Formats: sequence, structure tokens, C-alpha cells
Amino acid sequence: MSKAVIFSAAQSVLMLAALGFVVKQQFASAKPAEVAAAVQTAEEHASSGAHEAEASRSDRHGSPPKREDGEHGVAAPKAAPAKEAAEHGEPASQAASGGGHAAPTKSGGASQGHEAHAGGGSASVDPTEIANELLAGNARFVSGASSMHQWGRERQRVQATQHPKAMVLSCSDSRVPPEHIFDQGLGDLFVVRTAGNIADAIAVGSLEYAAEHLHSKVLIVLGHERCGAVTAAASGQKMPTKNLDAIVKKIAPAVAASSGWSKGPALVHMAAENNVARTADDLLKQSPVLRKAVAEGHLTILRAMYDLDSGKVTPLP
Ligand SMILES: [Zn+2]
Repeated sequence: MSKAVIFSAAQSVLMLAALGFVVKQQFASAKPAEVAAAVQTAEEHASSGAHEAEASRSDRHGSPPKREDGEHGVAAPKAAPAKEAAEHGEPASQAASGGGHAAPTKSGGASQGHEAHAGGGSASVDPTEIANELLAGNARFVSGASSMHQWGRERQRVQATQHPKAMVLSCSDSRVPPEHIFDQGLGDLFVVRTAGNIADAIAVGSLEYAAEHLHSKVLIVLGHERCGAVTAAASGQKMPTKNLDAIVKKIAPAVAASSGWSKGPALVHMAAENNVARTADDLLKQSPVLRKAVAEGHLTILRAMYDLDSGKVTPLP
């Protein structure tokens, strides 16, 4: 490795450490409901310092900071406001607690997630810090500075047990892999993917398992632009099989709620956002386990959209 490369790597670490500190300070005392606002600032930092989170990433994955050539720009999920629940007929108190409950005991920095896992689980990690970690991961992904994983080491770390810091319910679309989007490693995310990021009984049951038995503290419902399932639902066409029809039927209410406002691609975009909100509310309606976890402050549900072009995860209001 040339001196220039070594210097560049060392410089990156310093920059990242500095920016990581700033982001950490911003989120250190924030409750989940405040994440949305802070996220905007984090975004700005991320876009001005592509390597920002690399130092902490290096800590977490036990690998040297290294950058990959890349693409993208950043953003982040944010807490679900009570307003949305009200719009979708859910008791405001549930969404309020989902988005802004008192955080559990905080431990360590936002960059110490993997150490927390290695030390026996994520039970003491603040949901705000978890959200912050995921946002930082998305910033890395967007800037093209995703982690260089040492898969063997990561595999060893989680071979006996798992304590995923977050659950993600996202679309099956091959362009939207949560582990990549949030730059996370083995054992970090408990992922459920369905076309159109909808929640049927099996999806809900899977999330219940992670919330109840794996103690995941954060659940992100992640939609994306130009979603094929939403586009199919918006087309109004009959699906060729009853199983495909089941998907479209689940998304149809989100399309109906948007159709008076927009058409074409704009309709698909709006319906996709509405679909995320409705899915998040569906989870609470369908699951006493998730409802209880939210009410007791053990679970925070976040809603977000992924931009296929920029790689950004953007919070929904
Ligand atoms: Zn999709």
C-alpha cells in the first residue's frame, strides 16, 4: 500500500471519528420522536463527509476502514408520529408510544452496536441509538463507503445466538436489500420481505418472534419508489392468480386513498408511501404482541421510503 493511500485512510478515520462524535452527540439525548429532525442534520453531515461513520463501522465490524467506489446520497427513517395513526384509525397513544416512548437505558455509543451484541444482546440499547446507527449505515451506503465485512469473523460472533438490533419489513424487490441499504452485518437485522412490504399473518408472526424472543427494539417498515406491487395495484387490472391478487388487494386501500390526488408515477409514489403507513398500522392492529411491545416502550416502529436512484432512506411524516 502506498504512503498516499495509507495517509488517505488515516485521514478518513480522523474525519469519521470527528463526524461520528458530532452525530452521536446529536442523538445521545434524543428520543425516537426527535430522530426525524436530527436525521436531517445527520444527512447534511453525511453528505459533506462521506467517510463520517467509517471509524465506528470499523469498530463494529472489526475490519479496517476502507472505502469502496460508489454511488448514492443519504437520508433516514424517522419516528412515526401519532398523526398517522389517527389518519388510519389507530389509537394515537399507540403510535405515540411507538414513535416517542421513553427510551430504555442507553449504553455505549451509537457505534458500539456490535459490541453490545457480542456482550449478550441489544436489551440495553436505546432505540434512538439504533435508529442512528442505521441512518449512519445508510449514509455509508449512499456515499459508497459501505463496510468491508469480514464474514468469517461476523459468522463466528453470531453462530450461537442472535440479537438483531432491528427488524425491517421491506419489499422483496431485488434492488432493496435492507442489510446493504443500512450497511449492516450478520445478526444485525431481522428482515421480513414481501412484495409491496405488506404484512400477512406469517409476516406478522415473524416480527412477533423477533420482538418477543429476540428483543429487537426497532421495526422499520420500508417502502420504495416505483414498486412493482404498488404499480400493479394502481393499474386496477385483475391479477392472473389468486395469490398475486392477494398482494394487490392488500395494497388497494393505499391506492384508493391516493387516487384522488395524483395519477401515473405520482400516484404510485403516493400510494407506496400510504402503503407503508397502512402496513405499519396494520401491524399494530393485527398483533397484540407488537401492540403491547410498543405500549410498554420496548418497540419503536419507524416508517421510511427508499429511493432507488440515490440510495437514500427517507423518513415519512
Ligand atoms: Zn416493491
